[in-house]
Amino acid sequence: MYFSYHTHSTFCDGKASVEDVCQSALAAGLKAVGFSSHAPVMFPAQWAMPFERLEAYVEEIERCRNKYAGKLDIYRSLETDFIANDRSIPFDVYRRLAKLDYIIGSVHLVASRDTNELWFLDGPAENYEKGVTNCFSGNIQKAVTAYYKQIQEMVISQNPDVIAHIDKVIMNNKGRYFSGEEQWYKDIVEETLQAVAKSDAIIEVNTRGIYRGKYHTWFPCKEIIQRCVELDIPLTVSVDAHHPDELRAGFDEALQAIFNAGAQVISIFEGGLWKQKALRDVMSKIKE
Ligand SMILES: [Zn+2]
Ligand SMILES: [Zn+2]
Repeated sequence: MYFSYHTHSTFCDGKASVEDVCQSALAAGLKAVGFSSHAPVMFPAQWAMPFERLEAYVEEIERCRNKYAGKLDIYRSLETDFIANDRSIPFDVYRRLAKLDYIIGSVHLVASRDTNELWFLDGPAENYEKGVTNCFSGNIQKAVTAYYKQIQEMVISQNPDVIAHIDKVIMNNKGRYFSGEEQWYKDIVEETLQAVAKSDAIIEVNTRGIYRGKYHTWFPCKEIIQRCVELDIPLTVSVDAHHPDELRAGFDEALQAIFNAGAQVISIFEGGLWKQKALRDVMSKIKE
């Protein structure tokens, strides 16, 4: 059973229309597609949906939902950025305006408490360095801690259904500024997972870094997946496709990794609700 709950289209930085994604999903044998364009943000951004496109987004997904009814389950979501210091729009506004089935919360930009600037940790590595210098006086520990604190604040204040790529802050680091083995890093990750465990949020295992060649493993990594299982944090798989060819990219391996970490179930969205489904019922070819 293949699904893609975290999917981009030409409404944001995706490469294909909603309709084309639906057709590719059918051809690839998916059971469900949830569209999750980057929600509009309060500053100019090439990668996010412009506000004036939101209504068309709602309508186009509705149209496809009706057109493919009985063949493909289609859901409406948004990958919504949370930024501290009131720099983002409350998730409830999007839930209401876009009549979302669920919402994916993510942190791509971190607000500095000292300056008015934002640290953009995704995209080219130069931005990463520039942001750490400009927003956090070059102090990587301060920057990474602010990232995880922002995730915690998002979980508590915005109640996302799914948390996107929870350790993505490590992507552009590539072992240059800090190691995931350092105690301060492990401590802030643990504090964040404890906060997630107290909420209803699901953590996605995002495969995009691997198939794009940007990172050697999933977001989050094996150790964090393991800790999620220990803390009973629900997990799902996201391919985070920006192109219809990516709709199953890395899906099998991620599911296997969740199983290897000791989980028996995975979160799936069905009939308007998140449910736990046995991993073996999602993929029969799981190896012991
Ligand atoms: Zn993202
Ligand atoms: Zn995404």
